Amino acid sequence: MLSIHTFTFNPFQENTYIISNEQQECWIVDPGMSNTAEENELVRFIEEHRLIPQAIINTHAHIDHILGIDFIAGKYGIPFYLHETEMPILNNAGNTARMFGFQYEGVKTPAQFIADGRPFALKDDQLQILFVPGHSPGSIAFYYPEGNWVISGDALFSGSIGRTDLLMGDFDTLIRSIRTQLLPLPGETRVYSGHGPATTIAAEKSGNPFLV
Ligand SMILES: [Zn+2]
Repeated sequence: MLSIHTFTFNPFQENTYIISNEQQECWIVDPGMSNTAEENELVRFIEEHRLIPQAIINTHAHIDHILGIDFIAGKYGIPFYLHETEMPILNNAGNTARMFGFQYEGVKTPAQFIADGRPFALKDDQLQILFVPGHSPGSIAFYYPEGNWVISGDALFSGSIGRTDLLMGDFDTLIRSIRTQLLPLPGETRVYSGHGPATTIAAEKSGNPFLV
């Protein structure tokens, strides 16, 4: 059984997650640490729980979700995965940083690819990869049926949805992704979003103004 722990990092208040199994192996989702204090907070958690990092897996490649990738990949020597169709966004990170008024040259760790529609193995456990483009072209969500949770990235938030005005974003595509990939999940499924508090599928189905 996998456990999940939430951190909130960087000026965008981005949620970074650590998923761990009973053998103390862990995966880091969307590492967004933007300074030494945030890097230390993540490392302290890993050390205190004696976790052994296995890989970085990203829901998408917007700037606030990738700032900590090189630090983690370098410190633990682990690979970095995302969906292949997200590469234009990853490659545009430097421009995005300038647009938001700061200097960042982008992720140097080479990306490896996660395929959608197929399970992604975390050793003995498996995540289902849901393809949820719209907020970005290669956004994916990580669904863990055994634990009744999904990491939705920036596709779905508590009471809101991801913005679609950034590079290669598309509103209709995002709504279709949410309706076909996320809303059919069991109502009690806990949704861990890229920003803000966790919610449930049932709560969003009945109360999200973009979906009701
Ligand atoms: Zn985003």
